[in-house]
Amino acid sequence: MQLAQNPNSLDLAARLGVLARSCSVVTQRRVSPSLIEVVLGGDAVALAGVPGNDVMVLVEGARGERLRRRYSVRDVDVDNDTLTLWISTTHDGPAARFLTALAADDVLDVVGPRGKIPLDPVADWHLFVGDVSALGAFYRMAEAIETPGRAIFIVEIDDGADALTTPFDDALGVTAIFVDRHGRAHDDPAGLLSGLAAFTLPPDEGHAYLFGEFHVSRAVRLALQDRGLRTDQISLKAFYRLGRANGANGEPEKES
Ligand SMILES: Cc1cc2nc3c(=O)[nH]c(=O)nc-3n(C[C@H](O)[C@H](O)[C@H](O)COP(=O)(O)OP(=O)(O)OC[C@H]3O[C@@H](n4cnc5c(N)ncnc54)[C@H](O)[C@@H]3O)c2cc1C
Repeated sequence: MQLAQNPNSLDLAARLGVLARSCSVVTQRRVSPSLIEVVLGGDAVALAGVPGNDVMVLVEGARGERLRRRYSVRDVDVDNDTLTLWISTTHDGPAARFLTALAADDVLDVVGPRGKIPLDPVADWHLFVGDVSALGAFYRMAEAIETPGRAIFIVEIDDGADALTTPFDDALGVTAIFVDRHGRAHDDPAGLLSGLAAFTLPPDEGHAYLFGEFHVSRAVRLALQDRGLRTDQISLKAFYRLGRANGANGEPEKES
């Protein structure tokens, strides 16, 4: 176990009541035109928390400034003590650039686990709506659904080859709708709204998880409320807000 190197990481983790660790990069590779995968080693199980959780990584900007960015845990390998992140590279941002340049044996400060949206344990079906930045979180959560159960994915992709699939338990009912962005702006909800409109929600009790761009997630929440979902059936987390860098806490600004 290697404590985080940056003293601020240790202070932050102490305030949050979580861990701060120095993790080494095991592998970094491109998994699709819009996503890279980073596998980190060291206290992985404790950092990764439960499906839906994320970790905060300390990255370096172009002028050497330190920034904290949050990434959902895609996978945990208990035997090898590693956790996997899927990171969107569709935009030009300091974290996207820094993480794309990582190589094996590089070391990163990681604070975690973070996040307050676990899987709803009593829902009959789980609806995951967002863009490629949410795919890692969605797949880890869906892999934790107790069978028989149902997972529905409506995911906007920037390139046809971003429609990554993953093997689920045979007893899990899976519907995946990948919506091509067709060059629309990342804050344009039209694609996900049309994907949603094409799908009939199952009649029993479900839960929707909306992760992605700030305005898009809110538009999808409204559409789901119009379709009869109650507030307590919807969990929303804005991952970024187009045109504005995420703040020091790793989250997009909420004020207009
Ligand atoms: C709880 C949580 C979990 C998250 N999990 C993931 C994850 O698993 N994978 C992942 O890829 N991201 C995830 N994110 C989003 C990620 O933290 C942000 O995208 C972050 O802003 C990237 O930092 P950056 O330094 O590259 O860009 P920033 O400096 O924050 O932003 C630079 C510019 O790029 C835009 N931008 C930022 N992110 C995106 C994007 N994804 N698509 C289009 N434009 C963007 C911004 O609006 C801004 O205009 C998560 C965020 C939160 C809060």
